[in-house]
Amino acid sequence: MPVLSLVAPFFNEQDSVEEFAKFVKRLTFEVKDRFSLDVEVVMVDDGSKDDSVACYKRSLEGTWRVVELSRNFGKEIALFSGIEESRGDYILMIDADLQHPYDVCIQLISALLTVDDLDVVYSVRDDRMEESWRKAIGGHIFYRLINARQRFSIPENAGDFRIITRQVADALLQVRDKRRFNKGLYAWLGFRQKAISYTPNARAAGFSKWSRLSLLSLSLEGITSFSALPLRIVSLLGAFIGILGILYGLRIIVEALIYGSDVPGFPSLMSAISVLGGFNLALLGLVGEYVWVAVSETKDRPLYIVRRVHRSSSNA
Ligand code: UDP
Ligand code: MG
Repeated sequence: MPVLSLVAPFFNEQDSVEEFAKFVKRLTFEVKDRFSLDVEVVMVDDGSKDDSVACYKRSLEGTWRVVELSRNFGKEIALFSGIEESRGDYILMIDADLQHPYDVCIQLISALLTVDDLDVVYSVRDDRMEESWRKAIGGHIFYRLINARQRFSIPENAGDFRIITRQVADALLQVRDKRRFNKGLYAWLGFRQKAISYTPNARAAGFSKWSRLSLLSLSLEGITSFSALPLRIVSLLGAFIGILGILYGLRIIVEALIYGSDVPGFPSLMSAISVLGGFNLALLGLVGEYVWVAVSETKDRPLYIVRRVHRSSSNA
């Protein structure tokens, strides 16, 4: 029987373990019944400080593994290690906090299995009501920027909640980017993809691990790994300001030589220095971001370290 791997990273989610185990049990039955698929569960412990691992070991039934990473590596990488550990013919990635509704999981599986010739079915979050307009506009600009002049485009509001075939998983595992921006990588891979929209549930317990700052840094990750546009904009701007400076200089020379007028020195000097200094610093920071990505890649450290893998007895 073909196997569906359920891959779920978690970080301090002990309060929703029971409910998650029930979710998995229900899914295992239905998937076997309707689609003739066996289910294996691959949980990734992303350096939890609480009792999550013990709780999952106690509560999960059927075939499962809990990959315990040596520390917190972030969700993108935890998910990657889960995919690497999975053996299934299809891989469904979900969050451990039960924000991804049961019915949508079934829809994803059913779309991949029944629609001809698909490799990926991904979900698109449809929660515009909850989002603040500032966040929405920020997101919109981000996607416009990142998708400018690419051969592939990254869909807005599509996250990790998706199902992929083994072939796509193997392709994804070949991409060893150290600083990972999953949404971009999924799009970069190509293949035949289909979208399904959904509204996420509220968290089963606990709170979101994404702060504003970590969202900002993820956006930077996305930009630096998928777009050189900011660099081009800033260098164009620099060239433009340089040309303006030359024109202004010419004007001063003409005024002084032909009309013999005094040129007021201090204000023009100050504005030139501060404009150029500001742009210089901004560009330096931007270049630094890209250099940092390059440095991370050349260091060639492993993406993650596994401390232990716990297995169900049916899976030894
Ligand atoms: N998560 C993780 N490592 C982290 C942060 C989060 O494995 O460093 C897991 C978390 O336990 C959850 C999923 O990733 O299962 C999504 O995280 P969260 O719910 O905090 O994000 P949100 O749903 O708010 O986007
Ligand atoms: Mg969540």
